[in-house]
Amino acid sequence: MKKLIDMIAAARKPVFFTGAGVSTLCGIPDFRGPSGVYRDPDAARMFEIDLFDADPSFFYRKADALVYGGDDVKPGPVHEALVALQRAGKCAGVVTQNIDGLHERAGSSPVFAVHGSAALHHCRRCGDEKTYDEIRAIRGGVPGAVPRCARCGGVYKPDITFFGEALPEKAFSGAVALAGSADLVVVLGSSLVVHPAAAIPPLCLRSGGALAIVNRGETPLDGLASFRADDLEEFAAAASAFAAANG
Ligand SMILES: [Zn+2]
Repeated sequence: MKKLIDMIAAARKPVFFTGAGVSTLCGIPDFRGPSGVYRDPDAARMFEIDLFDADPSFFYRKADALVYGGDDVKPGPVHEALVALQRAGKCAGVVTQNIDGLHERAGSSPVFAVHGSAALHHCRRCGDEKTYDEIRAIRGGVPGAVPRCARCGGVYKPDITFFGEALPEKAFSGAVALAGSADLVVVLGSSLVVHPAAAIPPLCLRSGGALAIVNRGETPLDGLASFRADDLEEFAAAASAFAAANG
């Protein structure tokens, strides 16, 4: 892990790409893992846009544990480590596949959530915008409650990219530009199998940047990585210690 910290210390523009492993450390269930949410065929439908528009209560019932866990779901050690690195000038931005909005809540900036995120919600009818905390307040902790717009009565939907929706263009193009201009991309907790997001980290290689991967289990890009490790918690501890000494 010292080698990775040295790489980050030497990098001019280190960028971090995060996946489910970073969130499962905070108790958020994985989607595709062995005990993943998608093993429940019912739950897999919660992110279908047609179903959301027909019956938003289905999503809000299923999403309580996953998205609106509230005080039980807080930024974890990797989220905090990336904020500390940012303060030390060693995190130029975060690209995440996660939809929980935890990087944003932890204070990282910029964050490009390439599958969207629950950090913001919009009214399906009038487009009114609400933050995650505002939506939690509107729902009032009632299980399955559907948050409705006070202006028009429409339903708020999180800016998570649902099946049947286009990927968030601004976040995606921002992520591509960030990774393409990075001299180091560190992959944290992603098995790099979900496309097109998985094509983002190796963009740094084209301009001579380096790729590092910390993930429990193999990834298809391991052969391209200058550094490879398994343990995210070890990374978080080492990165936080480095940032504390250099912040
Ligand atoms: Zn509205």
